[in-house]
Amino acid sequence: GSGKYKGMIEDCCCDYETVDNLNIEVLNPLLQDLVTTPFFRYFKVKLWCDCPFWPDDGMCRLRDCSVCECPENEFPEPFKRPYNIAGLPSDNPICQEGKPQAAVDRTIDNRAFRGWVETNNPWTHEDDTDNSEMTYVNLQLNPERFTGYTGPSARRIWESIYSENCPKYSSGETCPEKKVLYKLISGLHSSISMHIAGDYLLDESRNQWGQNIELMYDRILRHPDRVRNMYFTYLFVLRAVTKATAYLEQAEYDTGNNAEDLKTQSLIKQLLYSPKLQTACPVPFDEAKLWQGQSGPELKQQIQKQFRNISALMDCVGCEKCRLWGKLQVQGLGTALKILFSVGNQDQTLQLQRNEVIALVNLLNRLSESVKMVHDMGPDVERLMEDQ
Ligand code: FAD
Repeated sequence: GSGKYKGMIEDCCCDYETVDNLNIEVLNPLLQDLVTTPFFRYFKVKLWCDCPFWPDDGMCRLRDCSVCECPENEFPEPFKRPYNIAGLPSDNPICQEGKPQAAVDRTIDNRAFRGWVETNNPWTHEDDTDNSEMTYVNLQLNPERFTGYTGPSARRIWESIYSENCPKYSSGETCPEKKVLYKLISGLHSSISMHIAGDYLLDESRNQWGQNIELMYDRILRHPDRVRNMYFTYLFVLRAVTKATAYLEQAEYDTGNNAEDLKTQSLIKQLLYSPKLQTACPVPFDEAKLWQGQSGPELKQQIQKQFRNISALMDCVGCEKCRLWGKLQVQGLGTALKILFSVGNQDQTLQLQRNEVIALVNLLNRLSESVKMVHDMGPDVERLMEDQ
């Protein structure tokens, strides 16, 4: 297992070791395959910032504030590179997305995706029906990793999320409903940090990328609660996926590429009906236990409002690729929340948008990667801790 992480994952139904094994042996390989399929690799997103907060923010008032396409002089001072990258303007990590191989794909034909409804998600701020401003991004060409985005702009977003929208609960809190949102966001934050540290620009002059183990330790691993929250978020999203089995199994994965689409369908089924998943961790999270008390409906409303705010904050992320992955993962979480908490009644049938399914599965893959990294890091981290 992951070194010192033993026993049951808090408020969940499986233990760390089981989750590690299940992840490494079954889920991670399937998810890694799945996200490369044509259906899952294109995400529809409104990329330009449309920040409803901080109207004084020069960056987000610019309609085309995208990191990769903005010339240097369009960036306000705080958003400029955090440190000097001498002699390598073309490899400015802030603008790495500008390289041709990472280009945004704006040509994917809408009609390639048939059979999906347009429906609303009360948990998110996204409006996928607003086609005019949406573009398709090839996620495989825009990996989530270190971008150099840091400083007041980035900090302000996390601060606003934690202080206004999901304050950390007090240590004696026993009500799981009051903990769930904080844990989900903290878990997502850990996962994002893992990917930054896991794919880091180690040597600017040689454009060398790789793992930054100190950073991984410093931001995540030395904070056991951040690691725990990440496992919690992974199981929460996994539960949402398994709960949506009936829907996901019959969904239309048609992209016009027959062989690839059959593969997508087959991978989805292997994931949903994995014997190991069904035996090792059949109910990764038990949502039925939540919202049962008298204040249940009220708490749910409150969390929904908070989550919508968090989703809106993603439009304020001042780095295009970070915004892309921020939006995708928050939409994925919003989809998980919708699956687990909006469809309580039998008479309400689940409806998902294509984009929600894409976000959900890609989020699960990102979390799965992070959980795997924590597991793989175990021995290295123990060595680091001994050195300190
Ligand atoms: P931050 O990660 O900014 O954290 C701020 C504070 O939050 C910390 O000081 C700590 O008090 C608290 N905190 C940290 N982690 C947790 C946790 N897991 N749970 C609870 N509290 C915590 N940068 C990239 O290079 N690539 C990206 O793809 C990227 N995507 C981003 C997406 C979003 C939505 C946002 C808001 C930022 C993104 N960033 C990205 C920036 C990155 O997340 C950090 O903000 C930046 O690297 C600066 O890190 P930091 O050390 O100041 O701490």
